[in-house]
Amino acid sequence: MKHFPIFVALEGRRVVLSGGGEAALAKLRLLLKTEARLTVFAPAPSGEIEAWEAAGRLTLHRRRMQPGDALCAALFYAADEDSTEDTRTAALARADGALVNIVDNLEDSQFITPAIVDRDPVTVAIGTEGAAPVLARAIKADLEERLPAMLGALARVGKAFRRAADVLPFGRRRRDFWSEFYFKEGPRAMDRGGETDAKASLRALLEKHLARQSNTGHVAFVGAGPGDPELLTLKARKALDTADVVIHDRLVTPGILELARREAVMIDAGKQGFGPAMKQADINALITRHAADGAQVVRLKGGDPTVFGRLDEEIAAVEAAGVGWHVVPGITAASASVAAIGQSLTRRGRNSSVRLLTGHDIKGFADHDWTALARQEEVAAIYMGKKSARFIQGRLLMHGAPRDTPVTIVENASRPDQTVLASTLATLPADLNGAGITGPALTFYGLAPRDVNAGPAETDKTPHQQELA
Ligand code: SAH
Repeated sequence: MKHFPIFVALEGRRVVLSGGGEAALAKLRLLLKTEARLTVFAPAPSGEIEAWEAAGRLTLHRRRMQPGDALCAALFYAADEDSTEDTRTAALARADGALVNIVDNLEDSQFITPAIVDRDPVTVAIGTEGAAPVLARAIKADLEERLPAMLGALARVGKAFRRAADVLPFGRRRRDFWSEFYFKEGPRAMDRGGETDAKASLRALLEKHLARQSNTGHVAFVGAGPGDPELLTLKARKALDTADVVIHDRLVTPGILELARREAVMIDAGKQGFGPAMKQADINALITRHAADGAQVVRLKGGDPTVFGRLDEEIAAVEAAGVGWHVVPGITAASASVAAIGQSLTRRGRNSSVRLLTGHDIKGFADHDWTALARQEEVAAIYMGKKSARFIQGRLLMHGAPRDTPVTIVENASRPDQTVLASTLATLPADLNGAGITGPALTFYGLAPRDVNAGPAETDKTPHQQELA
C-alpha cells in the first residue's frame, strides 16, 4: 500500500485551493460537503465559485497565491491546471506547512482524493493509487446502487442512540442489537415514518434485546480451504463475519484472515511441523476458555477440518466444557492439488479408491499398507510428506512398485505461488525442502499432471497447461 486511507477531521480547519476552472470546481464540490473553512485563490474565478462566495460558503481572493496564503491550512489543492503555476503554488503551500495535492499529478502530491460514496455519516472512500480510475468509478457506481439513500439518516439516528445501547453487554449482544436495527427494524421504520419512527423503533428494540437471555458461547470448526480466499464456502465466510474470536492455524493465508470481522480477536495457534509448537492441550484450553466466556469462536483450520486436523480432540474438549459446536467443511488440499494438475482422484478403470495418507505421525514417519499401495494404478494423496519422501520411496520400491510410477508434488495449491513438480517414484527428490519446495505441499502417488501424460498439440494447449509445461 503506497497510500494509507484515513479520514481527516476538517471541522473548523482551513483548506486552501488555488484555481478557478473546472478542476477547482470538481474539488470544491467535494470540499463543500465538509465543515472546513475554504479559501480560494483565483484571478479569474468561474461564476459558480463567485456564487458560493456570495452565499458565504467560501472566501475568495481574486488574485494569485502569495507566500503565507496557506498558513494554518490542513490541506492545499493546486488546481490551476497549469503545471508551472501548480508547482509554484504547491511549493508555497508546502512552505506554509499544508499537506499538498496537485490535481492530476499523483507523483508530486502528498495525498490523493479517493472516489467517494457519500451517505454521511457513512462514507466509503475508494482508491486505486492512480492505477485504475475506471475501476474506482465502477466500484463507486456499484456501491451507490447497493447502499440505500436513507443509510445516512439511519446512521445518524443510530449514532445518537449509541450511548443508550451501551447498557447491552459489549460483544455479541450489542452487535445483534445493531444489526437488527440497521438491517431490519431501522429501514422498515424509516419507510413507515422517517427519522421519527426510526428513533422510536430503537427504543422498542432495546427493550426487546434487554429482555433476552444472555447468549452462550459456541465453537464453529471451520475449513478455510487450501489458501485461495475464493475457495472459502459461503458458510465459512458467514462464520468469519460474526466471529468474536478466530483461532487459526499456520496454513490459513492472510487473505482469508482479512475477511474476519474487524473487531474479532485473532489468535495464531500455528503448529510448526517439526519446530516449536503450541501444544494441542493449550489449543483446546484456548478454544474452550473463549467459548465459556460467551464468545462465538471460529476455530479456523486449513483445508478441511476433518482431514489431518486433530478435530476429534478439539471436539472432545469443547464437549467436556459443555459448549455447543458445529463443523463447516472446507476444500481439502488434495482436491485443490488434483484440480491444479487437471486430474481426477478416482477414475473408472484406473483406481476405484484413493487414500489420504500422512507422511508422518506421532511416532515419526508413518507406516502404511505398502503392499497394497505398490500395486499397479493405485492413487494416494500424501499430506505432510516432505520430510518422508525418501522413506516412502524406499518402502514402495521395496514392495515392488514400478520405478516409473508417476509422483507429482503440488506446492501452495490454489495460491498465487502454486508450483507443480512432476517426477516418478525413481526420480523423486529425497529432500523436497532441498529441491526448493518450502511451502505446504501435497504429494500425489500414481498421478501425473495431465499434460505430461498425454500432451495435446502445442496449439491446443490451454493457458493452464502451458503454465505447467
Ligand atoms: N486439513 C488440511 C490438512 C492439514 S495437514 C486439509 O484438509 O488440507 C497439513 C498438510 O496439508 C500440509 O503439510 C500439506 O501436505 C497439505 N496442504 C495444506 N494446504 C496445502 C496447499 N495449499 N497446497 C498443498 N498442500 C497443502
